[in-house]
Amino acid sequence: GLGESVGLHWFRKDLRLHDNRALLKAIKTSSTLIPLYILDTKYLSPAYRGVNYQSWILDTLRCLNDELRAKGSRLFVVIGNPINVLLSVIEKFQVKSITWERDTEPYNKDIDDRLYDICRDDEIDAHGFWGHTLYDPDYLLELNEGAAPLTMTGFLNIIALAGPPLKPVAAPSTVPGPPTDIYCGDIFETIPTLSDLKSYGYNPLDKTTKFVAGEKEAFRRMEKFLAQRSRVATFDKPKTNPTSLEPDTTALSPYISRGSLSTRYFYSKLLEALGESTESTRPILKGSLEGQLYWREMAYLIGYSTPNFNQMVGNPVCKQIPWLEGKEAKMLLHKWEMGKTGYPAIDAAMNQLRIDGWLHHLGRHLVACFLTRGDLWVHWELGRDIFNRYLLDSDWSITNFSWHWLSCSAFFHQYFRCYGPTTFFKRTDQTGAYVRKFVPILKNFPDNYIYEPWKAPIEVQEAAGCIIGKDYPMPIVDHDVESKRNMGKMRMAYLNAQLLNLNFMY
Ligand code: FAD
Repeated sequence: GLGESVGLHWFRKDLRLHDNRALLKAIKTSSTLIPLYILDTKYLSPAYRGVNYQSWILDTLRCLNDELRAKGSRLFVVIGNPINVLLSVIEKFQVKSITWERDTEPYNKDIDDRLYDICRDDEIDAHGFWGHTLYDPDYLLELNEGAAPLTMTGFLNIIALAGPPLKPVAAPSTVPGPPTDIYCGDIFETIPTLSDLKSYGYNPLDKTTKFVAGEKEAFRRMEKFLAQRSRVATFDKPKTNPTSLEPDTTALSPYISRGSLSTRYFYSKLLEALGESTESTRPILKGSLEGQLYWREMAYLIGYSTPNFNQMVGNPVCKQIPWLEGKEAKMLLHKWEMGKTGYPAIDAAMNQLRIDGWLHHLGRHLVACFLTRGDLWVHWELGRDIFNRYLLDSDWSITNFSWHWLSCSAFFHQYFRCYGPTTFFKRTDQTGAYVRKFVPILKNFPDNYIYEPWKAPIEVQEAAGCIIGKDYPMPIVDHDVESKRNMGKMRMAYLNAQLLNLNFMY
């Protein structure tokens, strides 16, 4: 009967029709297909995933639904625990075949294992694909005797062995329709909106991000960027401008993270723009655009193979540092989150993060350093959680990798090199246009005080219509004092770690 070929395609991170091998497999094997997305209740709270992030997901789903409808299908969205939802859909529709993208994050890895077990027990065809990375991560690890490389040089050596990544595949021209009797209680009739998530604490009026979701928009942005040939060819990440009012990097991360732009597709288009073929041997610069995709890939490999990678304790690559936690940390963290540190550059960046849901890489550097080893000595895990609340591109592997880096917990160890909260943005923005945009209360300060408004004489503050300590906070810490003190603390923590290692060795 009809039931025999009902397939289930579980959309997870790769919210797209282009370059979707799992979906193509589903189309090949099923005459009736249920395309499903599960809004996991675990993450359905503004405390973990803010309103901008959540609306980004919902907008992306709406676009995916439009794409599917144009091909004869549609998307079904269910709120719940992934395994419970999958079990109930399998049972209700007597699903015979499941396709999905496998994942490297521990939480999702467990779900993958469960799903394979379920399929084995119930005699359902299971087809898990790696779709979110350039390479199959198991293959790369295998090439390195099971261990993730911890340096870019080591990573590039593995890439050289691995050969070019899989080529992207085209979007299907048609998608089999869903079963006709699918309309039932827990499945949304249409893609949910923020208003549908009110009971989880979301308010549509809180949304501020201007990013436009979906595959089409991702392609448009990518093509626009790649058309600027010399900009692409000379792209050097450390030299891009964090204070530019329009993103000075591609700003494709919100699309890549939700999979509405395939990494493999972007990679292939990038090489095309550079006039390279995937097989060509060429020097790969860490700061190049191609290099950025390798940083991503490396973060995924490390996250995949390092136990407890999202925390300090029990994490073999992470330095053990006595960070501030508890009440005082929470107080400092809150001021940092809300852009109330009294350092205009820090506050502007944090305001952009909350408003746009995106921040330039070097802006992320500045605020992450400030929160942790630089000034506030707050635990990196707490900062990471705040980033996850606001970033549209929030990504488990990359954010944990980056917070290790910026807090000098792993990968980067030059703790004596610290970003200056009053000097760093001045290099690219002498007049403070970025600060004036994102901390408008300071907009009338003269250029020479814009990064240190507390130093302005009271007449200047009055003329600017902003009294420091009243309308805008005094700095919460003295950078010159605290950054030096914290370097001392880092030195001690590193020495202790060395002593522990020695004890361990003998
Ligand atoms: P581009 O420079 O145009 O790079 C193109 C793509 O390469 C990006 O979209 C991204 O997919 C990848 N990429 C770029 N830089 C990195 C990097 N350093 N590591 C890994 N992949 C990279 N990126 C996220 O996608 N999600 C996160 O949650 C995240 N958290 C971060 C937290 C901190 C503390 C720091 C310092 C960085 C974090 N990054 C994160 C990495 C980086 O800042 C962003 O990927 C980048 O700024 C996104 O902008 P873009 O798309 O214009 O990047």
